[in-house]
Amino acid sequence: MSRLTPNSATEGFFQEQPRLGNQYDEDLYLQRLIQAYLPVELSQASGASSPVGLFRDIGAKTIEPEVFRWIDDAEKNKPYVEELSTFGKPKGVLHTAAGWKELGKMAAREGIIQTAYEDKYGPYKRIVQFTKYYIYCPSSAIYTCPLAMTDAAARVLELQLSNASLSTTKRSVFQDAYNNLTTRDPAKSWTSGQWMTERAGGSDVRNSETTAFQQSDGTYLISGHKWFSSATDSQMSILLARTPTSAGLSCFFAPLKHADGSWNGVRIVRLKDKLGTRALPTAELELKDMKGYLVGEEGKGVKYISTMLNITRVHNAVSSVSFWRRGLAIVKAFAKVRKTQNKELWKNPLHLSGLAKMEVQFRANMQLTYFTVALLGFDEQGMPEKRAPWMPKDGKEVALMLRVLTPLVKMVTAKATVSSLAECMECLGGVGYLENEQELNIARLYRDANVLPIWEGTTNVLSVDIIRAFTKGDSLAALNTWLGRVFDGQGHNSLREARAVLRTTWNDIKQFAEKASTEEALSKCRDLSFGIAFVVMGAFLIVDADRDGDPLAIEVALRWILEGIGREGFQAVGATSAPAIFQRRFGWKEKAEVDCRLVFGHGLQAEARL
Ligand SMILES: Cc1cc2nc3c(=O)[nH]c(=O)nc-3n(C[C@H](O)[C@H](O)[C@H](O)COP(=O)(O)OP(=O)(O)OC[C@H]3O[C@@H](n4cnc5c(N)ncnc54)[C@H](O)[C@@H]3O)c2cc1C
Repeated sequence: MSRLTPNSATEGFFQEQPRLGNQYDEDLYLQRLIQAYLPVELSQASGASSPVGLFRDIGAKTIEPEVFRWIDDAEKNKPYVEELSTFGKPKGVLHTAAGWKELGKMAAREGIIQTAYEDKYGPYKRIVQFTKYYIYCPSSAIYTCPLAMTDAAARVLELQLSNASLSTTKRSVFQDAYNNLTTRDPAKSWTSGQWMTERAGGSDVRNSETTAFQQSDGTYLISGHKWFSSATDSQMSILLARTPTSAGLSCFFAPLKHADGSWNGVRIVRLKDKLGTRALPTAELELKDMKGYLVGEEGKGVKYISTMLNITRVHNAVSSVSFWRRGLAIVKAFAKVRKTQNKELWKNPLHLSGLAKMEVQFRANMQLTYFTVALLGFDEQGMPEKRAPWMPKDGKEVALMLRVLTPLVKMVTAKATVSSLAECMECLGGVGYLENEQELNIARLYRDANVLPIWEGTTNVLSVDIIRAFTKGDSLAALNTWLGRVFDGQGHNSLREARAVLRTTWNDIKQFAEKASTEEALSKCRDLSFGIAFVVMGAFLIVDADRDGDPLAIEVALRWILEGIGREGFQAVGATSAPAIFQRRFGWKEKAEVDCRLVFGHGLQAEARL
């Protein structure tokens, strides 16, 4: 009897390598959103310098082997501090990896932040900028953390510079910093830190102990301890400190180093040892007479930090969906080459069903994110003359909706991304847990994503903020007006029931918010916030489906609203629908076909390489 040939380390079956394609071209849903959110003269423009040309260019660069090598280098060569010289003299030199620095230069060259401050695209600046950011982010080794704070600092300084009564000294200092934050020249480009969190609290900064004393020349000397400082390699920071002459905290601008390269009163106590974000130098800092400049009015620091948070929270949301999207891209590429039970994995109805569910959730999260990004652009640049009928009517409605949607989008996308990336890892089986090659490394994305629900406001803190915005001020009324327009719209017939379900759920939430005591509303605000998200995201999906009657867009709206997918995660208010498993709108074969179209953009009969 002839012997069977065993496999070995070099012989036998080897899995064909899954490959990522251009991260713009492959992302069909992003392309749909670009058509919806940019006016035709921008979305239809062709050529290398058109928005789509730029997105496609970054979509190619972001998966180049060199970029994956930079990520690898940044992850493996973690930042460290060279504390002392050979002879014991304090040095405090912070070292970061070469790959980390290259990823930063790439961001400056591509204008990942700068686009929002350049004289192009008017009210659509934020859509163009955040689309670039979204494509770049999963390949950035979370360089997007300093970029988010850079964007926020640039906005705060921009607003300060628009104040005619700013002193000459401050104008010169702030203008210089602003120019460096917004230049595309990698040799001059700055990033900024944002220091709020102290040992006493990050969610609640009222017990901050850092102090600032004014000098005769108007500058301040700032001393204290900051418990979490990401981007310690930045050139400047915006920070909170307490002055002796005001009860409220004040906001300061301070360069990290003097012109000769020595620290401006900053000592790195230690770098944090973290689950993820390994390339990012997050430190505990001691400040001793750090020279800084007051930003805005004394005692009103939280107001200026709120301006920053409104921007960094949108960054957090875009980071979340971008990580999620990269996870899905890897999962799809893998399913196209992997076989199970001698059949292609991408055709397996059970596997497809899980992917289709994630696709529905992803699309709903993308809708909320892009709408919020659009509103941020309108809030900063003014409303465009011509705009889609489903956009808010005026600047006031924009501001009121933004007040609720900013914490909402940060909260929802971060939570959904963490659980979805865990699912994405599982979709690859054992290799989903491995970190060998950056192109396929979902585990890195998962580690990094776990910080997204924590910094810039935890889920609890954000839901308290959402409900406060609801119960105080006019945000509830503004959202109610906007939703009313969607519910009353003459949309697609097949969405009539979905509209009715959303309206009923919204009325339940509204009644609860109007009647509940503050204590009761706060105790349930997490479920309430997820309930609001279900309705708002459902409304966006209806608007999206009504735009062109696209059958897949209708399908997504129905699954989100009527089949329970959008209701996962909240129970307290309005959770009355039947579980999705009992709904039978079509047989399993037909469902697998629709699932496949949703996930891959083509049917089950297509060739694997489409
Ligand atoms: C990797 C990393 C980098 C960071 N970088 C920075 C940085 O650059 N700058 C900076 O300033 N900070 C930074 N932070 C800090 C971060 O913003 C804070 O950790 C976060 O805001 C939470 O604050 P805390 O750690 O003090 O937790 P706490 O505020 O003590 O929260 C503890 C728990 O209490 C809950 N909680 C708090 N308030 C309420 C409430 N009102 N109702 C119900 N529950 C509540 C929270 O949800 C949380 O579960 C970073 C953190 C990490 C992990």
